Amino acid sequence: MTNKDTHMKQTQNPTTLDAANSDPRVASAYRDSDGVWIELESGWGNFYDEPRGGLHGIHETSVRAALRALRGARPCDCADCVEGLHKTAQATALAALKRATAAVDAVLNARDDVPQADR
Ligand SMILES: [Zn+2]
Repeated sequence: MTNKDTHMKQTQNPTTLDAANSDPRVASAYRDSDGVWIELESGWGNFYDEPRGGLHGIHETSVRAALRALRGARPCDCADCVEGLHKTAQATALAALKRATAAVDAVLNARDDVPQADR
């Protein structure tokens, strides 16, 4: 069996949740005694199982079925998702602001290092 054959076999009959865990729509994917669970990130809905949206997770009995259901994940703009996206955006903006402030402080502190008489 070549590497390509091995890859094809894994793609056609996945047995791990690696693909789900590296998917940007997925917050977490795991298996327990009740089956396979995929929790979606804010902004994504499971419209495969739940045409009207509202579910933000996938629960299937096998990895294969869970990954198939994940293909149906679509953007979701329910109140919970919008709130979650706002929190993520605020955290991202705050982190950028802190980096910018640190950069400005570094420039200003460097200027403070210049002796007063040389200004
Ligand atoms: Zn939603």
